[in-house]
Amino acid sequence: MDEKTFFILWFFAIGALFGSFINAMAYRTRHRISPIAHSRCEGCGHNIQPWEEIPIISWFILLGRCRHCGARITIRMVATETGMATLYAAAASMFYQDLTRLVILLLGITIIVYIGLTVSQSKGEHT
Ligand SMILES: [Zn+2]
Repeated sequence: MDEKTFFILWFFAIGALFGSFINAMAYRTRHRISPIAHSRCEGCGHNIQPWEEIPIISWFILLGRCRHCGARITIRMVATETGMATLYAAAASMFYQDLTRLVILLLGITIIVYIGLTVSQSKGEHT
């Protein structure tokens, strides 16, 4: 694997992590839950374990459902993570040689997606 491919894959993973993070933050902003509270299932209240929170991968391992009660985990979760990962990877591929622009672009992407998620979750939709 050449250096650029590795660089892009690395940013794909970072994008997935940030997608997961801002999705949770937008949800907590909307529901006025503490940002440092432990993640819980909305169905049964069980504390979500770290391995159940791996972006993209965990959703597929759990087949989109809570391990305990079978409550659905919204597709929005994995969609946001995959979308952010793709945007980060695309940005990394465009600005591979220019880290300053890359960081500014990623910051912009993250803020826009966060605002989008917060606003759209405010329309009374369940996550
Ligand atoms: Zn549950």
